[in-house]
Amino acid sequence: MEAQVLELLNAKIAVCTACRLHEGRTQTVPGNGDPNAELMFIGEAPGANEDQQGLPFVGRAGQLLDELLAEIGFSRPEVFVANVIKCRPPNNRDPMPDEIGCCEVYLREQIEGIRPKLIVLLGRFATQYFLPDATMGGARGQPFQAGPWLILPVYHPAAALRNSNLMQTLREDFAIIRPLLDQAERPEIAEVQIGHAHGPAKEDDDSQRSLL
Ligand code: SF4
Repeated sequence: MEAQVLELLNAKIAVCTACRLHEGRTQTVPGNGDPNAELMFIGEAPGANEDQQGLPFVGRAGQLLDELLAEIGFSRPEVFVANVIKCRPPNNRDPMPDEIGCCEVYLREQIEGIRPKLIVLLGRFATQYFLPDATMGGARGQPFQAGPWLILPVYHPAAALRNSNLMQTLREDFAIIRPLLDQAERPEIAEVQIGHAHGPAKEDDDSQRSLL
């Protein structure tokens, strides 16, 4: 995706009032990184630090994400990092289904514009966006094809910070990323028209149902 197209999308997100979450935000957190990244990460929603800085994954979970990326030879500017939801839910509560429904057009435009070879889903909300019936315990560490997208669910870094038992599992799942990327191809889909997102998933393929 051209950087200008991404800027246009960010500008559209910045003034969005489509759901109640705009009322409590300091600013939107659209996501950032390389607009042509081969590797994309999707988390849940901004927290307090992200809301203050307007950037995704800048707190402790972000530091851990940077460490995990470094261990597999990536730096943050080489990848694209976004969340399912672009505004901070009050008191860091879970996003509600209608909020996800309102916001998903932006994530869809990001994914379709970037066309990453691999999308790593950080935690339950990002995983269930693509695989609504999945559990983290069952899906983590396994690649799935969701429409044109190759996805890899892993635990959210914040979960690994809360429960140290998950840390090694998260590291092992990150170790899969390089080999998967080496074999993956960029999906061929039509150019994105900002404001006219469309669903590329094959409607007759319900083996891995996707909201996209
Ligand atoms: S969370 Fe998404 S849909 Fe809701 S106001 Fe923010 S940008 Fe708009």
